[in-house]
Amino acid sequence: MSFESLGLAPFLLRALSEQGYENPTPIQQQAIPLALAGHDLLAGAQTGTGKTAAFGLPLLQHLGTAPQSVGQGPRKPRALILTPTRELATQVHDSLRGYGKHLRIPSAVIYGGVGMGNQLDALRRGVDLVIACPGRLIDHIERRSVDLSGIEILVLDEADRMLDMGFLPSINRILAKLPKQNRQTLLFSATFPESIKTLAMEFMRNPREVQVTPQNTVAEKIAHRVHPVDGGRKRELLLHLLAQDSRVQTLVFARTKHGSDKLAGFIEKSGIQTAAIHGNKSQGQRMRALSDFKAGKVKVLVATDIAARGIDIDQLPRVINFDLPMVAEDYVHRIGRTGRNGSTGEAISLVAQDEAKLLRAIVRMLDRDMDIRDVPGFEPQVPIRWGNSAPGKAEQPGGDRAPRKPGGGRGRRPHGGEGQRHAHAGPKSHTGQRDGARKPADGRGRGGGPRRDAQR
Ligand code: AMP
Repeated sequence: MSFESLGLAPFLLRALSEQGYENPTPIQQQAIPLALAGHDLLAGAQTGTGKTAAFGLPLLQHLGTAPQSVGQGPRKPRALILTPTRELATQVHDSLRGYGKHLRIPSAVIYGGVGMGNQLDALRRGVDLVIACPGRLIDHIERRSVDLSGIEILVLDEADRMLDMGFLPSINRILAKLPKQNRQTLLFSATFPESIKTLAMEFMRNPREVQVTPQNTVAEKIAHRVHPVDGGRKRELLLHLLAQDSRVQTLVFARTKHGSDKLAGFIEKSGIQTAAIHGNKSQGQRMRALSDFKAGKVKVLVATDIAARGIDIDQLPRVINFDLPMVAEDYVHRIGRTGRNGSTGEAISLVAQDEAKLLRAIVRMLDRDMDIRDVPGFEPQVPIRWGNSAPGKAEQPGGDRAPRKPGGGRGRRPHGGEGQRHAHAGPKSHTGQRDGARKPADGRGRGGGPRRDAQR
């Protein structure tokens, strides 16, 4: 399928081909025609799927082709994109600038933690598009420096994260300032908890649903193994695991571009053919690394989450999470690359103390057992404190338990001489989510408003 066949305007097609995009991703294939036709959209997609273009292209096409529907007077924003964090706001802005390079769409990015000056200037000059984090946008609404009565398209990007971060009251306040009629709403979310469905029912008109995220599922045949380890010894442990059978093709996930480069260099030095792919590598370099990996010339591929998008290798036997992903859903995406087409796969995570909360979030989301076991010689100096409760259905008040283990066994001596570890009591949070950015699930209570400092 081509971008042309989705009904996109020539000025966008040109920009896409200049960016090197050849074909639309699945979410783009599904979402773009519906959004162009004016439907509200509930889209299940997460970072890495091409979701930004899925809502950004129809939005730009609307702004670039439809006449402004509001009357005369100062220019009012016509499109609003809400994002949970300032990083995402900036990223979305950059992407849309690229896609809209053959259009003139004045825009402003609005987020907290920086001075108001530039934002006020931009809004005063007049913009068509506002990309904003909810907290700071509320500040502007209160100062009357932004008028949202002309919004024709609203995008809620990573809606589940916004609600997780306690932005529901802010979102409700913002929604109250938008026109009720003739507004198109596009909601993108990796997951669809009840709170999102409620939001959608209240504020969307007969939304069409599209879904590309496998709903928090991974292949049943995958063994999920966790090795607790001190952060400083992860590299050694990784080498130890790789050296056990260096013929096994392994995809290693690291969190940062720099980290993946360093890690690849370290593995390579030990004599295992290794390549790294991440956002700073050219398309050509990525393709080469990937084809070498597929051909078996390279045994270990170190990748960041974004770069791993599009890696499609059947029968990849092993994925190792050198770092756990910051977002639990990304675990599903990482692990989804092994155990495909009925083959079995192994998913190994090296988990240091500072990742215990991330692991809890992952276990809760998967609702699956994790086999937690020390590797002899690499036991953490201080046993990992897993937190107060096992995530998911095993949660019980006051329990001091680790993420669940096979058979629900606690402290069972495992076979093979590798020692399973008891969990230790930890902080009374069972969310596994960012500290300091949590509020009660309904977003109400304590202090009423959102935590502005949650915009990171
Ligand atoms: P996103 O999920 O929007 O964060 O996009 C993830 C990455 O995929 C970004 O680097 C985009 O530039 C890239 N991307 C999005 N759509 C396409 C496409 N159709 N072809 C190639 N790359 C894409």
